[in-house]
Amino acid sequence: MGLMSGKKGVIFGVANDKSIAWGVAQQLHAAGAEIAYTYLNEALEKRVRPLAESLGATIILPCDVQNEEEMVAVFSELEKQWGKIDFVVHAIAFANREDLKRPFSQTSQDGFRLALDVSAYSLVSMTRCALPVLQEGGSIVTMSYLGAVRTVPAYNVMGVAKAALESSVRYLAAELGEKGIRVNAVSAGPIKTLAAAGIADFKKKLNVAEERAPLKRLISQDEVGKSALYLLSDLSSGVTGEIHYVDGGFSIAAG
Ligand code: NAD
Repeated sequence: MGLMSGKKGVIFGVANDKSIAWGVAQQLHAAGAEIAYTYLNEALEKRVRPLAESLGATIILPCDVQNEEEMVAVFSELEKQWGKIDFVVHAIAFANREDLKRPFSQTSQDGFRLALDVSAYSLVSMTRCALPVLQEGGSIVTMSYLGAVRTVPAYNVMGVAKAALESSVRYLAAELGEKGIRVNAVSAGPIKTLAAAGIADFKKKLNVAEERAPLKRLISQDEVGKSALYLLSDLSSGVTGEIHYVDGGFSIAAG
């Protein structure tokens, strides 16, 4: 019996096999979970569907988190097919490249709204849509980054979005605790993914993290997956509202 045997849930945020969400999916699958997946658009469906099917998935649905109707449709389909679910993984973020490149004070109003909407508000709306379907004892996990609590060069509006995301984790955790539902974030160190390609000088971030982290190496997609597995399983039954760092200790040594 795996840690997640008999548990079912949904992962939002697989774009390809480099996605952090894919690292989470592999760990959950290995632990016995049954997983549904969503993809942003048709172009990504071509990548996500074969990956999801390779882990035996049968529920693979479209969802742009800016479209609440699509989100509602995902959870009603899950309810139709499975009844209740046990976990939700939110591994989604977006900001315009131009807004990340400019000095922070030059962030456009539209770009600010977009980054906050996709990267932070979507956790709130996703939780609202998931609530009628989530079991007592259910767990929600999102993905953050150190730029939420420190200034990190070129992270700019995404840092502000992650600060809103982390605060949302705490408010959601406080609200849902009495229903027995937990909400946590994993704050991962830098990993080369599609989203990371939008951050200027990302290679430099990898080098700095590797040099300064106490573990003296970068962390892997699998290591983020293992921490998410812990937060989504009953091993963390007393843990909620937490920002769980998986960054090789970089956050304590960044200076
Ligand atoms: P990724 O590009 O693989 O994943 C980002 C996902 O967001 C993609 O699947 C994309 O389709 C999805 N997305 C964007 N806009 C969307 C929308 N409107 N509706 C639905 N989905 C949308 O990159 P990743 O690095 O795996 O990112 C996953 C999460 O991890 C993000 O929240 C990111 O900020 C966070 N994170 C990444 C790193 C890193 O270094 N890569 C570090 C810490 C945290």
